[in-house]
Parts: sequence; C-alpha cells; structure tokens
Amino acid sequence: MTQMMKAAAIAGINKIEVVDVPMPEIGPRDVLLKIKSAGLCTWEQRIYTGQAKAEYPLLGGHENAGEIAAIGELVTNVKVGDRVTMGSSACGTCRACLRGEDKGCVEHFLNFSLKGGFYGPGGFAEYKVHRSDGVFNVGDAPWDQAALAEPLSCAIHAARLLGAQLGDTAVVFGAGTMGLLNMMVLKMSGLRVGVVDVNEGRLAKAKALGADVILKSGPDIRERVKAAFLGGVDYSIAAYGSEEVNQDALDVLNARGKICLFASAHPVTPFSIDPNLMHNRETSAVGVVSADRRDHAVATNLIATGQIDLSPIIDATFPILDAAEAFHRATSAPSYRVMLNP
Ligand SMILES: [Zn+2]
Ligand SMILES: [Zn+2]
Repeated sequence: MTQMMKAAAIAGINKIEVVDVPMPEIGPRDVLLKIKSAGLCTWEQRIYTGQAKAEYPLLGGHENAGEIAAIGELVTNVKVGDRVTMGSSACGTCRACLRGEDKGCVEHFLNFSLKGGFYGPGGFAEYKVHRSDGVFNVGDAPWDQAALAEPLSCAIHAARLLGAQLGDTAVVFGAGTMGLLNMMVLKMSGLRVGVVDVNEGRLAKAKALGADVILKSGPDIRERVKAAFLGGVDYSIAAYGSEEVNQDALDVLNARGKICLFASAHPVTPFSIDPNLMHNRETSAVGVVSADRRDHAVATNLIATGQIDLSPIIDATFPILDAAEAFHRATSAPSYRVMLNP
C-alpha cells in the first residue's frame, strides 16, 4: 500500500487545499527530506493570486530546509538525521557545470516531479525527494532561517555576477524580502548601499538592517540617488520589476556601472537602452535568477555560522494545515517571508 503524506496545493486562484499525496520514492542518488520549514516565495504567491500563469493544482515550495530521513544507496555526502538546506542539483559534467556555472545546466533543478497529478517543486509537503548534490549541511541553524538559504543564494549570485567588492557603491530598488537580502549581501561585501522603496516602513527596516542611505520613491528619485552617491552608483539592482524602476536603475549608473535585472515583471514591461550611451559610458546589464550551487553553499554557510541573521525578514510561521491562512497573509499585507512548517 502506498504511504501518503500531507501537502499544501495551490488548487486555483486564491484557493489552497491541504491534500493527501503519495510519499515520494528515492532513487540511488536521492535523499528523502523531512521538511521542517518552507518559505512562500513571490513565485508561488503570484500563482496563488493568478498574477502569473500556471497549471493547477500546483504543489509549490522550493525554499526548504529539513532533516534527512532516508538516503539512496549511492549517497555519501549526507547521512540520515543531518540538518540541511535545499538548493539546486546539476549534472556535473556539461559545459555549464564544468565552468562552475551550473545555473545554466539543463539538469539544474529542484526536482519538479511528483506523483498523483501534481506538478511543482513540492516543498510545501511533509516530505520531499531531492538529489543528494542539492542538499547542504546547515548545522544547528534555526529551521526557518535555514529555509531562506535559497533566496539568499540568489542575492549572493547577483553580487558575484556584478563583481561587487569593497569600496563599490550600489542602490537597490525595492525593499521587500529580495531587496533586503540583496542589500545585506552587498553590505557584507563592503559596499556603500542605498535602498529605494515607496513604503516608509520597509525603508525603516532596510535602515535597521544596515542600509547606508534610504530614499522614498518619487519623480526626482534619479537626482536624489545621484546626490546621495556623488554622481551615481557602480551597481543598481532592480529588485522590483517595472519599466519605471528599470529605467531609473539604468539612469543612476556611473560609467562602467552595471544594472542587475533581478525581478521579473507581470505583465512584462520592456525598457529602452540608448546603445550609444551604453557604448560611450561602458555600462552593462545583467539578468539574475536563481543561483549556482557554489552560491547556495556560501548562503548555507553564512546561515550555519550565524554570520547573517535572517530572523528580521521572517514575518510569520504557520503549520501546514493552516496553509490557506499563510498564503492569505503573505499576499494581503506588505510583508516579508511567511513560512510553512510541515
Ligand atoms: Zn524563491
Ligand atoms: Zn550540467
């Protein structure tokens, strides 16, 4: 008889159902994770509200931490009982993997394979199967913070692709969870960092977490960023997706500056680049989504050693049976991360 487990599925727009699904089975290189915490990411929130298109029912959950409950016969890097974060796994042998750029691996994944008619990464459940190269030991770190290793890894990935280093300057547009994580990583990297947001409460939070400059959005935001940073910034991070933000983020760059397109926009909003200006000023644009495994390893280590404290960006924690309330909470008020504890 197939063993069953509880999972929280997005059954339709604004509709969460706690369902019984078959327990996942592990292959020789897989581990079975007993999920301890899962973050409700913007991606799942947008599918819940209908802002992003998806097939329902969808079983979300890709920001996870948990305990190893079982391992496949070829697994050697972890053992039963280990506390781990969950990142992407990759093939290890393709061109992207050999270059250490496994985000580009065609097998870079979070195990989007579930039985019983459900699609999705599957972390909003009691158990999840994952490839063993995608789990990372997190020591004694609190479960909810450990689950945020995945979004933290994306901010670390952005800082690395930008080449951010001591003495550089940056401005982050958007002070939600991802904006704050970007700001914290850039501060730890030795930058002077500004944060722009429309919401004063979020700006106060950014300041409390270390932002050097906070600026409220407004028609003269470009001038105010330039005034605060002696002419412009080396990097601007668009952690909120809109044409206006992208255009502002591009405009405030120093010569050789880089804009990071960190957020997607729904619906998509193109923005314009003046090629002569980019040519003459040697500026550039880089898109960032997800992370390489090395970024996830760094993120996990920062959390495991207490070098970063992510507790200020955790708003609320709900048991999996209250998943409907958790989704409502995450999407109804300007908030940071809401966590599910299966
Ligand atoms: Zn996420
Ligand atoms: Zn690969």
